Amino acid sequence: MPSRSLWSRAVIALAMALVPLFSNQVCADDLERIRTESDVLNTVMATALERSVTFRSLVERIERSDLIVYVTCSHFESVTLAGRTLLATAPPGVRYVRVQILCQQPQRALVTIVAHELQHVVEIASTPEAVDDRSVRRLFSAIGFSTCQSPRSEQFETRAAWDTGERVRREVVHYRGTNVLVRRPEGGRWQRKSGD
Ligand SMILES: [Zn+2]
Repeated sequence: MPSRSLWSRAVIALAMALVPLFSNQVCADDLERIRTESDVLNTVMATALERSVTFRSLVERIERSDLIVYVTCSHFESVTLAGRTLLATAPPGVRYVRVQILCQQPQRALVTIVAHELQHVVEIASTPEAVDDRSVRRLFSAIGFSTCQSPRSEQFETRAAWDTGERVRREVVHYRGTNVLVRRPEGGRWQRKSGD
């Protein structure tokens, strides 16, 4: 079982300055909601999608949302961080979320942290009013608790994210099924097919 310190290292962080990712208006309906260009993270998500019903429900919930989520490998100044989720910008009709993961970890730990952070994404997806720093802070003050506060940033945590990460880890470890989810080569949505 992962140590409590692992959980405490995966937090939601609020950027005090919102950083626009795009200058052009983007039609969200044309985009897949969760994106990563990292082979490591692609493998982690494919494994979790294949093995964890909880992870699949997270992804399906995000796919039905107005969010566009970029999942990237990252390094953090703080040695206590292994992942974080930030609302980047929210022009009308679409909200952009960045999930940053410390990728230099065993795959089992990565599965846990990615699931943990995607639960935070679902928490944002479930709150349409969360569109800027103030409203995101209000959301996580209501459903979670502050873990760190500084003049530049504030970090929050939720019990649901702890529980979700742990549940997905268990489902991945104990998986004995046969269904396989694959991503279409052209970058389309995840598809389920019969496995060997
Ligand atoms: Zn967290």
